[in-house]
Amino acid sequence: LASREFHPADTVISIKGVEIGGQDLVVMGGPCAVESPEQIDEIARLVKAAGGQVLRGGAFKPRTGPYSFQGVGVEGLEMMAEAGRKHGLLTITEVMTPEYVDICAEHADILQVGTRNMQNFDLLRKLGTIQTPVLLKRGFSATYDEFLNAAEYILAGGNPNVMLCERGIRTFETYTRNTLDLAAIPVLKQLSHLPIISDPSHGTGRRELVEPMCKASVAAGADGLIVEMHTDPDNSMTGDGVQSLFPDQFANLLLDLEKLAPLC
Ligand code: PEP
Ligand code: MN
Repeated sequence: LASREFHPADTVISIKGVEIGGQDLVVMGGPCAVESPEQIDEIARLVKAAGGQVLRGGAFKPRTGPYSFQGVGVEGLEMMAEAGRKHGLLTITEVMTPEYVDICAEHADILQVGTRNMQNFDLLRKLGTIQTPVLLKRGFSATYDEFLNAAEYILAGGNPNVMLCERGIRTFETYTRNTLDLAAIPVLKQLSHLPIISDPSHGTGRRELVEPMCKASVAAGADGLIVEMHTDPDNSMTGDGVQSLFPDQFANLLLDLEKLAPLC
């Protein structure tokens, strides 16, 4: 079901008037994690003012270590839904377990499956039973075939609203946090009809590389970008401050992107 052979035309996912996978570029911006109502409200305001369409933010965080901040949980979903409503943005948040799919879907417009859960098949099966759009991140060691098979689980369950996200893979290079696999964008476009979103924040792990890799992703054919932005990156509650753009960088990035492709 994920393959271009089966479904030659591009899939366009339409959410409250925003079309993902169509002519225009979609930009999702926001913090790694929802921290407080004030934090997410202010960031939502800045995302909207810059011209973004989707507010990102994790309420449940898949942390490498068990002692790290794990997210504020259900309250974070409520904070983000409120900020999205107030500022007229769609919202995307990560869901990690099948039991939380329904509550996350009640609060967010798009559900994100993180790199560490790309092959959490119970989660994928559960996501197949609803119609809420899913942004499926590529596992950091997954081949294209494994990635598309993971998408297939959701599609086979009956949810056609799947977008693929390249967020960097693990290579021998340690200068960047991951290696953003730009070739994945045209390859997946060839193999599949699903929209492709690029995540240069996790793909590089370095703020100064986000802008050039966003532009490169658009040139390679990405339908959208997901970018971390924080009002106080140095004091963010996850370690992702170093890859988060400052608000003015985010705004300038969108001005530049508009020259490459119309925003939704
Ligand atoms: C995130 O989007 O903050 C995140 C945890 O992403 P990934 O699953 O790609 O590491
Ligand atoms: Mn993050």
